[in-house]
Amino acid sequence: MTARLYYTDCYLCDFTARVTEVADDGRRVYLDRTAFYPESGGQAADRGWINGVAVEDVQEDEDGRVAHLLAAPLTSADTACRIDWERRYDLMQQHSGQHLLSAVCANEFGWATVSVHLGDTVSTVDLETAAISPALLVRLERRVNELAWENRPLRIEFADAAGELNLRKAPARAGTLRIVAIEGLDRSACGGTHVRSTGEIGLVLLRRQEKIRALVRLEFVCGGRALARARADAEALGQVAQLYACGLDDVPAQARRQHDALRAAEKQARTLAADIAGHRGREAYQAAIPDEHGVRRWEAIAADGSVDEARAVAQSFCAGSRAVALAAVRATGAILLAASADSGLDAGRILKLALEAAGGRGGGNARLAQGSVPPAQLEAALACLRDRIQTLRQSNNG
Ligand SMILES: [Zn+2]
Repeated sequence: MTARLYYTDCYLCDFTARVTEVADDGRRVYLDRTAFYPESGGQAADRGWINGVAVEDVQEDEDGRVAHLLAAPLTSADTACRIDWERRYDLMQQHSGQHLLSAVCANEFGWATVSVHLGDTVSTVDLETAAISPALLVRLERRVNELAWENRPLRIEFADAAGELNLRKAPARAGTLRIVAIEGLDRSACGGTHVRSTGEIGLVLLRRQEKIRALVRLEFVCGGRALARARADAEALGQVAQLYACGLDDVPAQARRQHDALRAAEKQARTLAADIAGHRGREAYQAAIPDEHGVRRWEAIAADGSVDEARAVAQSFCAGSRAVALAAVRATGAILLAASADSGLDAGRILKLALEAAGGRGGGNARLAQGSVPPAQLEAALACLRDRIQTLRQSNNG
């Protein structure tokens, strides 16, 4: 068993210890005592240094020992150890903040905490409630912060699980329990590292909530993280406000106005594009010279782009009497065929036959059909289409 110094002193970050065993070529180190917190109970493992060598991970072994995983082999049996305090204190603020949040959720809202995740950037509690309304979220956040301002002491106690312990959650094991108590508010069995009073938790910010089956997963950040988050939010909002040349509080209304204006402009652009295509189609129809069967043809074979751009023009062209329009894109092998109702041509049927012959696919109705062939087959498919259009017209007129 490794003696755990953090059980009684969460603020110890410089300590000495003796190496009891090494494994993995000196990179997996066991000490007689440690202040390094191993990953457990939802709290991440500490980082730090042993004799100046970086500790990359700390894990709990099944035999009750703590394994320190180092970046390089350790040579000496006597060690000078140092915890990465900035990271540890951040984790302490999150963990104590979680106890405070879970206590308020249980005591004042009736929502039990089912599970906890204390992450590297964001932490979450899974709460036994179907949903948290925006108004309730504001009330909960306010209450948690008020209790932080009251600066209530957090104490660590040890007691036997068989006793009358008045814990928020029934203990999962027998024997001696480590209890983290927030004065007059909460008592929880916990092996984690905690701050000395609720004031040290600092600001508690409630963020996103997500529905997970019958639970709500609520994101929160405390202390230094809450400060960093608030700063990042202010920077982001400030950049948007600068774009809109307005104050931070006016950003939502400005964004709504811009959004609505953009939608209206897009709608207008679509209407104008349709008008232009219609105009181009009518103009092309007027300019086209009818062949000996009285049929007018329009062809648009582009190198690249989308055949969709030609669709409205083709349809407008074929709104005229006895008209056939053919469009294609060389780069993609896309083909579009349109025919007027009195052309005697079934665009869907003719295109389908040409596509099948060229190993392509597509379809449509008698007035408009669209498909594609492998680009290398495009010329052959177009030749086949022109040929069929010609033959049909002759037979229709014959
Ligand atoms: Zn805990």
